[in-house]
Amino acid sequence: MHELSIARGIVEAVRQHLPSGEVRSVKSVTLKLGDFTRIVPESLAFCFEMATEGTAAQGAKLKIETVPVRCLCTACGAGFEAGRYVVLCPNCGNAGVELISGNELDVVEVELSESSG
Ligand SMILES: [Zn+2]
Repeated sequence: MHELSIARGIVEAVRQHLPSGEVRSVKSVTLKLGDFTRIVPESLAFCFEMATEGTAAQGAKLKIETVPVRCLCTACGAGFEAGRYVVLCPNCGNAGVELISGNELDVVEVELSESSG
């Protein structure tokens, strides 16, 4: 499953956020997810739950911030918001567009629980 390998990558990224030598569990993980990745947030959240099993991030809440697809036409220079699949300039119909945002798959915040004693 595509989303599961992505979820495992997120868990790996979260691990790198953790301070070394401290055993603290992860409360929540905030993820920026571009629409262009075509990842379904609900399915990713489900896979995240599976991928975190047995790790410090077990039980962590995955907060997903979706990022709309924004493009810049290379022919006429128009900036526009695109759908998930068809990326054509609404101004001139050109297919040669540059993706400005929408391809994000970044862990932006890792919230740790208070260390207990
Ligand atoms: Zn154009």
